[in-house]
Amino acid sequence: MSLVKEYQCPHCNAPMDVNPEDAIFNCVSCGQAVLSDGSEFKDHYILKNTLNRTKIHEIVKDFIKKKGFMRGIKGYKITNITPTLTPFWVVTSDAYTHFVGYLRYSETKTRTVGSGKNRRTVTEHVTVYRPIDQEIREKRADVLLGRRGSSIYGYDKVRDIVRSEFSTAIPFNHDHLVGTEKEFDYLSSEIDLDAANQLGKTVVFDNHRARAQKACTKVFDCATQLTYTGTYFVHAPVWQVEYVFKDETYRIAILGSSGRIILGEIPVTTRFRMIFLTLTFLALGAAGAGSWFGRYEVYVPIIAGIVAAVIGFFTLKNTFKPKSVVD
Ligand SMILES: [Zn+2]
Repeated sequence: MSLVKEYQCPHCNAPMDVNPEDAIFNCVSCGQAVLSDGSEFKDHYILKNTLNRTKIHEIVKDFIKKKGFMRGIKGYKITNITPTLTPFWVVTSDAYTHFVGYLRYSETKTRTVGSGKNRRTVTEHVTVYRPIDQEIREKRADVLLGRRGSSIYGYDKVRDIVRSEFSTAIPFNHDHLVGTEKEFDYLSSEIDLDAANQLGKTVVFDNHRARAQKACTKVFDCATQLTYTGTYFVHAPVWQVEYVFKDETYRIAILGSSGRIILGEIPVTTRFRMIFLTLTFLALGAAGAGSWFGRYEVYVPIIAGIVAAVIGFFTLKNTFKPKSVVD
């Protein structure tokens, strides 16, 4: 039994094989976004890719030079570069929330009591209950992943970046795909428009509720109204890079629109471990010496102990793992 449905692209008439799990998919010939009933989806945007393979090599070189400081990473080799257009939904809305509750806090008050010889100042702590009645009114753009449980490297991170770069997204253009984004893999969305709107709504409700709870000790009532102002399907260009250093493979994800490193792995080399361990022993020695000379002050050994524990923890954490992850 074949699970694949067959359509014709409404834009270029090319035949399309469609996985029924996908809610929105893209024509491999022209990039047109198509809904699961075979009709065109209009609000399709893209963050324009500005990179090519040469630039990717330069970015990786810079990244390893900067983040690989003290590690002595020489002779790495890029083994794989995969440009992928990753799908997101951006749900824009006008959101309004009214909440009431109270805030409890304690105040220190000083007052003068008595008179003459018995006149004195007393300090007292009083608990204050302040009623809270506030509104949140804002325009929002909430970004959701277009795939469920995706294993694309750095995918969660891209979401936050898409939120800040969404204003630079341009309407999808068919000529672009055959030009700039020609070599990209297109990923379709497993989440449809209705599901995206529902998820977006939940995000706003949860966010406003959390803010009300932060402003109050107790929230009595919290009501949110949401008006959708547009839901967009946005593809972000992500360059997935793999490089090999001493037979181990490491990954880097780079955003094609800005050249920003989304997430990258850096080897933890023997040299790095040695330097790190040496510094740690020096720091522990200093902490020990500090507590000896400061032993008549109670707090000195305590602070030295805490410092030593923190340094020790970081050493364990950084020295025995094979790679560091940086963004
Ligand atoms: Zn097409």
